[in-house]
Amino acid sequence: MTALTVPAEAKRLLIVDDEPAMHDSYARSFAPAAGADGALDAMAAELFGDEATSAVEDDAPQFALTHCHQGLDAVAAVEAALAAGTPYSVAFIDVRMPPGIDGRETARRIRALDPEINLVIVTGYSDFSPLEISKAAGPADKIFYIAKPFEVAEVVQTATALARRWEVDRELAAARALLAQQVVQLEEQGAELAANESRALHMATHDSLTDAPNRLAFLRALGERAKRPGLFATAMFDLDRFKLVNDTLGHLAGDALIREICAILHATAPEGAVVARLGGDEFGVLFDTPGEDAAVMACDRIVAACTGTHQVFGNSVQSGASAGVVVVEGDGCDPIDALRRADLALNDAKRQGRGVSRLFDESMDEGIRFRRRVEAGLGQAIEKGELSLVYQPIVSRDALEVLGFEALVRWNTAEYGPISPATFIPIAEESNVIHELGDWILDQALEMLKVFPGQYVSVNFSPRQFRRHNFVGHIMESVERAGVVPGRVQIEITETAIFDDAERAAETLYRLRQMGFRIALDDFGTGYSSLYNIRKFALDSLKIDRSFIDGMGRERESAAIVHSIIHLGRALGLEVIAEGVETEAQVQALRIAGASHLQGYFFSRPVPAEQAMALAVQRFLGEEAAGAPSPLHIAGGTHG
Ligand code: C2E
Ligand code: CA
Ligand code: CA
Repeated sequence: MTALTVPAEAKRLLIVDDEPAMHDSYARSFAPAAGADGALDAMAAELFGDEATSAVEDDAPQFALTHCHQGLDAVAAVEAALAAGTPYSVAFIDVRMPPGIDGRETARRIRALDPEINLVIVTGYSDFSPLEISKAAGPADKIFYIAKPFEVAEVVQTATALARRWEVDRELAAARALLAQQVVQLEEQGAELAANESRALHMATHDSLTDAPNRLAFLRALGERAKRPGLFATAMFDLDRFKLVNDTLGHLAGDALIREICAILHATAPEGAVVARLGGDEFGVLFDTPGEDAAVMACDRIVAACTGTHQVFGNSVQSGASAGVVVVEGDGCDPIDALRRADLALNDAKRQGRGVSRLFDESMDEGIRFRRRVEAGLGQAIEKGELSLVYQPIVSRDALEVLGFEALVRWNTAEYGPISPATFIPIAEESNVIHELGDWILDQALEMLKVFPGQYVSVNFSPRQFRRHNFVGHIMESVERAGVVPGRVQIEITETAIFDDAERAAETLYRLRQMGFRIALDDFGTGYSSLYNIRKFALDSLKIDRSFIDGMGRERESAAIVHSIIHLGRALGLEVIAEGVETEAQVQALRIAGASHLQGYFFSRPVPAEQAMALAVQRFLGEEAAGAPSPLHIAGGTHG
């Protein structure tokens, strides 16, 4: 076995043949000197013509040959070359090589060592069939055959082509390996990113000191639980005298106590409970419960477990806890309200002297107490004569003629002084008190109509009134009793009132209008009604909500909404009343935009009956408009 020393980029060929003469012939074929005047040149000239010779010459690979005379030597050479990292690209293998293993076996063993090498079997006609050798030393695309005796050019051409292919295959394999490695790296980076993300998420929803869910996570859990049916308890715990521990033993001791308490909560809370640190020394516990008694018992148990002596950094620390709990039915309740009530109950527990659990009851809630009193007070307000109506003129755009008045209710209570209808109407709306109230308001307004010289009165009806059984008959009866024509009564209802049950509302409005009542859609633009849908309803006017009038000078959106409501109203043949008009600039803008009626402090505040009468008789709002520059001199109007 002999090997030539050659440049590193030379292609390594393995020649396996038992006949020394054959080796000479190979050696001559691949002799480096063959360049300019040798076989390669001759072949190139033949293939590409004479001009191409030099190009081929430059490009022609150099070969380094290893000569083996026996199959086993060749196998050893392949093994050694692989080990050295300089594998062969092509092996030329003779088939018959007595006394050693034959070419087929040699090929099989070499293939077993090196899957990349190209094998060229040099056979006589009587030797194995190519198929047999391919089976032993495949794959077929890496085995080639040259018949003996061979031409020099044939061998060189084969070696050149196979060596190139081998090289390209290797480059490809290297590129693939690199790619695979990069894929692995990317996957690792992806995994790391995912881990970072879940760590960040964990940090955002967990308390760093105790690793318990934090307030945000608790609110989320509460929100989720509130959607499902069934009773659940929201409890809040607060450590008693925690500040004392912090102040006397330091913050580290305080932290240790917090962790200890958190562990106790986890251990003693009912199965499946969410235990969260809401902040400071405050904890929240959320659990399903069969009822209020069971919930209070669970809280008592936790409070008892928290109460006693704890060891903190070798110090004995006395601690205790208070709890507030509320039990509500899930299935759409308000989770924030549950937490608020639990907090109210906790405050009550602390007031009661700490170390106890308190169940929320409505007496703890100032807001609820107020509502109850308003409700009760409203029931007697009529009898006590605490209610009255005030009237605010609605004027025509140009002449500023008082065409009507909106009736607005006022309640002056002995206990709280005046209460705004914006406060008490929604409370009345939650009970049947609204009907009694509404009837009184309508009757009062109808009385006023009898004395007004021709204007209409616009009366507000809340959604509950509107949906009342036989609303139409009821109103008609009142109007007949008062002896007034329906055409002088405008019914103001809001979008919410009609769009909850649009079909029925459309029918009700249609009948009211048939009887001659005027219909105004109040607070228009604030609800969810599609502008397009309102054409289904029998209406006389749209009242643009005052928030848009207010925003007109400041925000593009408000101005745009005002304009589109006016356009829509006119397209549908409706009056458009702009309410809440406070400034001259607004009046001008609304006139230009095309509002047909105006209402607001700029012309007059809502005033008591007597003053309203005076305005009604005066008919036109000019110099007298309360404290304002004379609307009569506002530009852009044609009087008449
Ligand atoms: P609303 O129907 O939108 O009534 C218009 C409100 O705007 C009235 O407040 C009125 O005083 C006020 N307002 C009028 N012009 C201006 C202005 O230029 N600037 C400002 N900032 N406000 C102006 P009020 O009287 O406090 O009534 C509040 C709400 O209470 C009413 O809103 C209505 O929803 C309800 N309400 C009032 N009276 C009754 C009633 O008799 N029955 C029913 N069901 N609801 C009523
Ligand atoms: Ca109104
Ligand atoms: Ca309104």
